[in-house]
Amino acid sequence: MDKLLKILALDERVRVYIVNDTETTNEAIRRHDLWPSAASVLGKTMAIGLMMGAMLKGDEALTIKIDGNGPIGMVCVDSNAKGEVRGYVERSHVNFTNKKGLDDVYTLGYNGYIDVIKDLKLKDLFTSTIPLETGDLAKDFTYYFAKSEQTPSLVALGSLFDVDNKAKVCGGIIIQLLPNALDEDITYLESKLNILSKMSELLKTYNNLEDIIKLIFNDDYKVIETMDVAFKCPCTKDKFAIGLASLGKEQLLDILNVDKKAEVVCHYCGEKYLYDEKDLQEIIKGVKK
Ligand SMILES: [Zn+2]
Repeated sequence: MDKLLKILALDERVRVYIVNDTETTNEAIRRHDLWPSAASVLGKTMAIGLMMGAMLKGDEALTIKIDGNGPIGMVCVDSNAKGEVRGYVERSHVNFTNKKGLDDVYTLGYNGYIDVIKDLKLKDLFTSTIPLETGDLAKDFTYYFAKSEQTPSLVALGSLFDVDNKAKVCGGIIIQLLPNALDEDITYLESKLNILSKMSELLKTYNNLEDIIKLIFNDDYKVIETMDVAFKCPCTKDKFAIGLASLGKEQLLDILNVDKKAEVVCHYCGEKYLYDEKDLQEIIKGVKK
């Protein structure tokens, strides 16, 4: 099972989130038939989603939408405080082979925006939008945390793929300076940038996420929480039936008489729901009320 760690480091002046979402990424690959470049962008965005989800509490949830006007189009990820994530890209069959390192930029594009929508269970959703500056997700989210959340952060992400197009590793880390951070903490973290730039290799080498934390912070850290994380979509046939009902009685009768069935596909997880004549009649009955 994929894991996420919440950590306090440097005498509790720095907060760290680190996640390995390799299995989660492979589940997304299986569900959406993602090609590696598309899977890399979605896997990394889900890593960020999971880490930002871990910053929430209770039933709070968030959505990340990124559109860089690149080959994959829109990237959409939902996550929550329970370690659950789901996501999709507009076009899943995207792969570039000979452009190592620049892969994500080519795939995602860099002319667009990042939307983060938080559902903090208040009256209104909290939305913040920033322009996409580079198309490099780690750099753009570093910018997001500084600009939208006023939290100086370091973000590093990594992914590697096998010849069979499955993810070998995917994951990332967010290191945030707390208000009591010292100048020397910044200097210290700057001295670790070379380690952080090798996230893909680190995830491949170390199965245990804490070993990566040790490389960065030696023994000056403590694990606050270890979470299981996974791809999970809460969609059900009943929930989509509510959506079908909103089409109205007339259109539903049309579907019933002409097609005698309806199929709905969940964008987020690729699950297909089939409604036969009996199901459609039930839904129409509900609309009448
Ligand atoms: Zn679903």
